[in-house]
Amino acid sequence: MNFELEERLVQRKAQQLYRHRVILDSPQKPEAIVDGHPCLMFCSNDYLGLADHPDIRAAFQKASDVYGVGSGASALINGHSRAHRQLEEELAEYTGRPRVLLFSTGYMANLGTISALLNPGDALFQDRLNHASLLDAGRLSGARFQRYQHLDMENLEQRLKKNKARRTLVATDGVFSMDGDKAPLKELITLTRQYQAGLMVDDAHAFGCVGKGGRGSLNENGLSVDEVPILMATLGKAFGTAGAFVAGSEALIENLIQFARSYIYTTAMPPAIAEASRASLKIVEREDWRRDKLTANIRYFRRNCESLGIPLTASESAIQPIHVGSIEKVLRVSKQLLDLGVLVTPIRPPTVPAGSSRLRVTLSTAHTREHIDRLIDALQSIVWPKPEQAA
Ligand SMILES: *Cc1c(COP(=O)(O)O)cnc(C)c1O
Repeated sequence: MNFELEERLVQRKAQQLYRHRVILDSPQKPEAIVDGHPCLMFCSNDYLGLADHPDIRAAFQKASDVYGVGSGASALINGHSRAHRQLEEELAEYTGRPRVLLFSTGYMANLGTISALLNPGDALFQDRLNHASLLDAGRLSGARFQRYQHLDMENLEQRLKKNKARRTLVATDGVFSMDGDKAPLKELITLTRQYQAGLMVDDAHAFGCVGKGGRGSLNENGLSVDEVPILMATLGKAFGTAGAFVAGSEALIENLIQFARSYIYTTAMPPAIAEASRASLKIVEREDWRRDKLTANIRYFRRNCESLGIPLTASESAIQPIHVGSIEKVLRVSKQLLDLGVLVTPIRPPTVPAGSSRLRVTLSTAHTREHIDRLIDALQSIVWPKPEQAA
């Protein structure tokens, strides 16, 4: 056997692309214990501060007393519990869609959905900066697969014009995971209608955070199931639990139950996770103050960065990337932040395109003004010269 295991690692290190995992000894909260040291975290996707919420923990504990821990089998064998069914029904009602199907992870939801709907000979168009799971799903489906320029509807239309496939799907992140900017949903709907294509929105980063009661990007834009037939969202980010779901028509969901291999051939999520997600859904829907505080935190962070000359992008979401450029620089800056007790994981290729390495700062309802001040102080002290020094 010669897989060049050692050589590949040496090369990965030489390219400064080697990944390490930090170890947490605390819940997912701004003030955490990272690699044995107290640390302030600005890279979690726990946008609403729910990952350690007492009601959600209690629901999880109680459900494990009722159902035990493991679900025991795939959903089509006997792993589909009352808890799963109730969460599906509640998410359908919440999203205003006929039906919902739970998946164990968002990665699997995207893989299963796209590969169930498309076959070789069909066509798939994706934003160039879509999440890796959507891109991988495209590859797995065997469909003819094109990536259009980020947010560029003219570029998409040129491609759709030339497309002759019988079945065509356009897939996009609602809020882009590494950039925090939003897909032009209204324009996407116009184009998909004009060219008779399906539309799928992965709302992992907006679900819980925007729209009435946290219903996400589609609700924020008043979009119906006819306009966006396939909605996917995750429960491991703003919802603070784990797993994901697809919401759409009765026929779509039945097709996924029959044909989505990442649904069929995997153990169902633990029922206690489903119960915890039901508890989370109640909080997400009811507690507008969490979204209001998140929005206030985002504004506060941006206002302060702007006045100090720390370069931001146009993102309005909880994802606030600071572009650094080279791999070397992002590693250095991230290390310097960590030395100051602030964790912002560096984001490098291939997660983002070459030359666009960045600090992906994420904000949460759980951050206080004081936390954000500490981040800004740290950023200011090491990354960018103070405005009076810049020239
Ligand atoms: C995180 C994420 C996923 C994957 O979800 P998991 O539940 O973490 O597997 C899919 N799409 C987007 C846009 C994401 O950010």
